[in-house]
Amino acid sequence: MTTLARIPLKAAAPPGLEVRTHCPYCAFQCGILMGEDRGTEYPRVSGDPHFPVNNGQLCIKGWTADALLQHPQRVTGPQLRDEDGSWREVGWDEALDFIAGKMIAIREKYGRDANGVFGSGALTNEKAYLLGKFARVALGTANIDYNGRYCMSSAAAGQNRAFGVDRGMPFPVADIEGAEVVLLVGSNAADTLPPIMQWFDRQRKAGGRMIVADPRRTPTARVSDLFLQLTPGTDLALANGLLYVAIEEKFVDEAYVAERTNGFDAVRRIALQYHPAYVERLTGVPEGQLRQAARWLGKARTAMVLSSRGTEQHSKGVDSVHAWINLMLALGRVGKPNSGFGTLTGQGNGQGGREHGQKADQLPGYRLIEVDADREHVAKVWGVDPASLPRKGKSAYELLDALGPKGGIRSLFVMGSNVAVASPQLTTIVPKLVSLDLLVVCDAFHNETSAHAHAFLPVYQWAEEEGTMTNFEGRVIRRRYVSRPPKRVRSDIDVLAGLADRLGCGDKFEFSTAEAVFDELRKATAGATADYSGITYEKIEKNGGVFWPCPDESHPGTPRMFAERFHHADGRAKFFPVEHRPAVEQPDEEYPLFFTTGRYKEHYNSGAQTRLVEKLRKAKPLPRLELHPRLAQRHSVVTGNRVTVESRRGQVVFAAEVTADIRADTLFAPFHWGGRDAANRLIGGFLDPISRMPEFKLTAVRIVAVRPVAAREEPR
Ligand code: SF4
Repeated sequence: MTTLARIPLKAAAPPGLEVRTHCPYCAFQCGILMGEDRGTEYPRVSGDPHFPVNNGQLCIKGWTADALLQHPQRVTGPQLRDEDGSWREVGWDEALDFIAGKMIAIREKYGRDANGVFGSGALTNEKAYLLGKFARVALGTANIDYNGRYCMSSAAAGQNRAFGVDRGMPFPVADIEGAEVVLLVGSNAADTLPPIMQWFDRQRKAGGRMIVADPRRTPTARVSDLFLQLTPGTDLALANGLLYVAIEEKFVDEAYVAERTNGFDAVRRIALQYHPAYVERLTGVPEGQLRQAARWLGKARTAMVLSSRGTEQHSKGVDSVHAWINLMLALGRVGKPNSGFGTLTGQGNGQGGREHGQKADQLPGYRLIEVDADREHVAKVWGVDPASLPRKGKSAYELLDALGPKGGIRSLFVMGSNVAVASPQLTTIVPKLVSLDLLVVCDAFHNETSAHAHAFLPVYQWAEEEGTMTNFEGRVIRRRYVSRPPKRVRSDIDVLAGLADRLGCGDKFEFSTAEAVFDELRKATAGATADYSGITYEKIEKNGGVFWPCPDESHPGTPRMFAERFHHADGRAKFFPVEHRPAVEQPDEEYPLFFTTGRYKEHYNSGAQTRLVEKLRKAKPLPRLELHPRLAQRHSVVTGNRVTVESRRGQVVFAAEVTADIRADTLFAPFHWGGRDAANRLIGGFLDPISRMPEFKLTAVRIVAVRPVAAREEPR
């Protein structure tokens, strides 16, 4: 174990809060101050006033994060499932021998790709990197992917294609303050990243305007200057309509388009088919509002579009991202201060997690597994023959869909992900998990996925480990050890080393510290798109974080990208002509309503951690179904009734919450719960053809029953 890191503060810390680290949850990665674990009570948490992203602010999840440490439900030793279905605590050798033996037997009987690996956007860069290496080198399987595929993959693909690189926000969050106009699309930042609202407050105090496009009048929409309440799944049409007005009213920056981009003519031809009157019919956004938004964006000297899951989690998510990027390129805003396009990444290390080789098609540093030069570079760092590296594997949903005897993937090794809540099409995915020859879960607590596992390996959680995270701005920061883990719990790095040893390649996984893993990651990413080679732990300490790319130790890092060139070979950005198309499953006579999902401010993703925190659980014990008063009246629903919602895949019973903040044709529920309360039971496995993102944000449903009884207020 590494020693406790005491980081000098710029100002006196409150007594007992000596360590600077970061929140365990979302991509905002708020700086927090924690007290050293003195073995009596768990360390307290406070916002770090000197981290220049949150400036001391935290949301309720951050303030209560310390409740996860020394939690009574913590798993404190490795467990194997007995024949009667109960868990039996065992020694580490027995657990690792059992798992490795099964993996070897599966590989011999069914081939290398029959062992699957599923990672997470919550893992540190070091763990994400090592998990990718473990899959390719120790198991030799092509089938590794991660839950970030469900989160940022459409924005990542869109930015990669348009700019030649994907860094969620290619500028620091502080740039928001100086933007004259910000358009937030499909983002309820006030609930998902509450401390970010300080930047919008400052922006508006300085005279800026905020536009929000969303099917719900969310807390974010309520503080906007203009709210565009669009029909679910019509974001692309809205963006093309805005571009129509920009062209018509001559807001296009023709000099910028000529000097810095390729492909605008085809986009112009398509955009001119999106007259605002037509767009009003598609989106439900009145022509006057659309023109107003386009004029604000077009006339502002500085303007940015920030997208989020609402516009990205669709079967046309990548095309929608292209439509927003097209708009900002046409206005000549990308690469200029306080301007451009960015996506608000969701998961804690959603950015770093997608850079370092957990994705089925990628190697560390955004190198591609199908590109020979990339394979050779990484194979050399790993000390293996490039030919031994597997090729591209299945994407997250496709990997899960292939579990079991029929699909051919017979084992799944899950690290930091709760796929039995977070995946679409749960009515078929959960039985597939049950059909596996081997399911292993590495986590701190049991969850809905481990309920079906054969082995559970308890690992360190956030404040018990060292490592780095890359926040939504592309800023690489330090996660620090503050709290002593239970004695029989191990780091994920040790777990992977123990398994690799039993799989015959322990020498490639001998790392004494997380920093040693990071040093190898630096070599693997040297010269790549996401180049971390110039970032060291020491440099992160000194600067409070370093933005990638950072190609050598004397390089200061890159807070703002695209000022002079984009990352395509010719230095230019690419326009992509994109057209509106319906979702795979639009509402019809049988299933007449839109169903869309999202988040509560009290819970994080699958809720595996936040549902364990008493304050959060009490505040939001269950998912509630939002529906408009007109729709409620039609079905005789009042707040608190139990409403059964059905899609073509299954049913869920929700407690109703009648609210005029939602469209009358749309139902909303959060997805933080599993089992019978899982909103994802309704969602289909319809994927974007490029990013393989499931269509989480639009499903056709109907209301099939209403029971006039009070909602349950206790979680199951
Ligand atoms: S959950 Fe996100 S916004 Fe809330 S405190 Fe943690 S990092 Fe900050």
